[in-house]
Amino acid sequence: MAVALIEKRTEDGKTIRVTPGPILLLGAPGVGKGTQAKEIVAAWGIPQISTGDILRANVSGGTELGKKAKAIMDRGELVSDDLVNDMVADRLRQPDTAGGYILDGFPRTLGQAEWLDSCLAAQAGSLPVVAVSIKVGYTQLLRRITGRRTCPVCKSTYNIYLQPPKVDEKCDLDGTPLTRRSDDTEEVFEERMRTYESLTAPVVEHYRALGRFEEVDGEQPVDAVAAAVMAAVLRLRG
Ligand code: AMP
Repeated sequence: MAVALIEKRTEDGKTIRVTPGPILLLGAPGVGKGTQAKEIVAAWGIPQISTGDILRANVSGGTELGKKAKAIMDRGELVSDDLVNDMVADRLRQPDTAGGYILDGFPRTLGQAEWLDSCLAAQAGSLPVVAVSIKVGYTQLLRRITGRRTCPVCKSTYNIYLQPPKVDEKCDLDGTPLTRRSDDTEEVFEERMRTYESLTAPVVEHYRALGRFEEVDGEQPVDAVAAAVMAAVLRLRG
């Protein structure tokens, strides 16, 4: 498997190629980690690893892991570190992660962060992580989460307030009725925010203290946030 390389302009105007390595996208529910991860996938060709997506696939596939996770996710709480770390360890063994990957929604506790740090330290030749935290205010987060809708067939995403479909609750591309994640209600969002403040905000501080960390304003248009995130990664990989 070819290792992904991205181009970077140096201060003296030369173009060099760098390996993206592990990239962490951090931030509260609704800041746009998934959206931004997809922008990076399209630009740099490295995989997105979303622990939320892997868990949801297990829930819809009815696996043992999915059965354990469903009620926890529906309450807006966190699945145990052991389950999630094992899931990530399995994914990182896939050869497509060799040149880099974007972790979206992981780590979410200090225990997960410490596990990841030691896992990468033990991996010969692994680059250190670079972490980018996306910041969005509470009111905007609430609109993004409660308005979020997805087409179950083509996976197109909409927001009934910010980016509505042409016909109410139907996909523009194939007319399929849009679905809403069971944890995207206002009540569960509030619990997810409490969980974020108590368990995940310390992870942001952990990576801020380690360096190789930048924060970007997530209240700009998607492509502007993507440009800011990618510019931050390139600076941090300097
Ligand atoms: P997300 O799609 O990232 O918003 O995640 C949806 C839900 O999946 C979360 O509210 C948690 O219940 C669970 N989840 C996702 N990632 C993790 C993680 N790293 N640790 C624990 N639970 C997680």
